[in-house]
Amino acid sequence: MKTTHLVYLMVSLLVVACQKTEKLEGTVLIENINVVDVVNASIIPNQNVLLNDNQIIYIGEANGTQNFKVDTNVKAEGNYLIPGLWDMHAHPDDPEVWRMNPNTREKDRLLPLFVVNGVTGIRDMAGDLNLIKRWRKMAESDSLLAPKIFAGGPLLDGPNPMWDGSVGINSPDQVKMVVDSLIDKGVDFLKVYSLLPRETYLALSKYANEIDYPFVGHVPFTVPPSEAALTGMKSQEHLLEILKECADQPSETYLAEIGRMEDRIERSNKINDFRLRTFNETKADSLYNLFKANDIWHCPTLSMWYKNAWYESEYPKDEELVALLPPYLRAYWTPEHNDHLQYRNNQDFVEIKQRLYRLYQQMVHKMNQKGIKLLAGTDMGANPLCHPGVGLHNELQAFVDAGLTPAEALRTATINPALFFEIENEYGTVEADKIADLVILEGNPLENIQKVGQISSVIKDGRVITKNEIAEIKDSILQLNAEK
Ligand SMILES: [Zn+2]
Repeated sequence: MKTTHLVYLMVSLLVVACQKTEKLEGTVLIENINVVDVVNASIIPNQNVLLNDNQIIYIGEANGTQNFKVDTNVKAEGNYLIPGLWDMHAHPDDPEVWRMNPNTREKDRLLPLFVVNGVTGIRDMAGDLNLIKRWRKMAESDSLLAPKIFAGGPLLDGPNPMWDGSVGINSPDQVKMVVDSLIDKGVDFLKVYSLLPRETYLALSKYANEIDYPFVGHVPFTVPPSEAALTGMKSQEHLLEILKECADQPSETYLAEIGRMEDRIERSNKINDFRLRTFNETKADSLYNLFKANDIWHCPTLSMWYKNAWYESEYPKDEELVALLPPYLRAYWTPEHNDHLQYRNNQDFVEIKQRLYRLYQQMVHKMNQKGIKLLAGTDMGANPLCHPGVGLHNELQAFVDAGLTPAEALRTATINPALFFEIENEYGTVEADKIADLVILEGNPLENIQKVGQISSVIKDGRVITKNEIAEIKDSILQLNAEK
């Protein structure tokens, strides 16, 4: 009697269920999660998000009426879903660090650290293009957990380049050959560098514009940021040369006085101090208007400036993160080896760095108010304490400290990078038909940006990496680092 009743009940329930909904099939179902809409700065509560392989195929209210058939269920009640983050200025193979003789396997270990911290895409801003191609292949064949990589290949610098591995362009008439050969090798954009002579830069920008090829990078020493903007540099990095353009011109007498100083660092302190004192808000304002009018992106790498300025007090806080790095990079992030930490015993030098940082914060705040498009970038690589993965969380915090809302900060690492690369149909928001690069957070990042660091799982190309797996990956990296 009892059994027949039960069978009858089950059959009728099934009939009701089938009448109500069609069955949705996929690989992964994220159940009852709060979806973060980064564009509108809002939360869409209690959603079911269905993935199939590497795609989001359905998002709908978790009201119990849907019927899913999936391989994996992710219970996510009370959690928050954001798009995978992008680090738009990273150097996992920084040429500046080649002098430490890292081997390829050590460099490989940096890549998973991006992903387990929710950074599923990076813009590689100088590194060995062959190594980057190898990483892409390894990621495709699942032998390396790595973010999606857009890469510029070698830096384009002047005849005596600043770093190993750069292409030194000797004269303007070499520009076409250099650019053509890099495009041939498969770079995604060109990165210009500080020592590029003015005439060569102008020839390069002219040619890149002719063939409609994006170029980004350091505004060269010989080109003001306004001119870089007018000549179409798509993104400017680190806020370089803005201070110089917006400060007063030092008088001949002052320059002569500085010129007589013997110590190079004393000289640079003196000129920076002069520029900081004479920084002109009105000039800056019209420069920002020009950036806006010319649709120029900015990647300020605030956290890099911060870690450089407050290295001594930051290092002890970051020790656990430093342990995750391969030995060559750990060594390079110490004053003994690091070019950026050479003058830390000069109190004026340290103080100037800290004053510069405060000005950079104001610049970013104003630029954001003007609607200039910002990109989150860490400069991860040679610069000390710019960590793979966590560095991006630091950058978002730095944006909020500078006056952006958490949603504005989040955009710099989600929708903005997608718009920058013109891949917004596939990346940048949590929406159906987009690639399933996602991060599940344990708290609401629109209320507190630090929640981007409280990760429950990361989803890369539809593959769920759970909190336990993340811990295992970090453990295995620590073990390898101990071996070498
Ligand atoms: Zn860089």
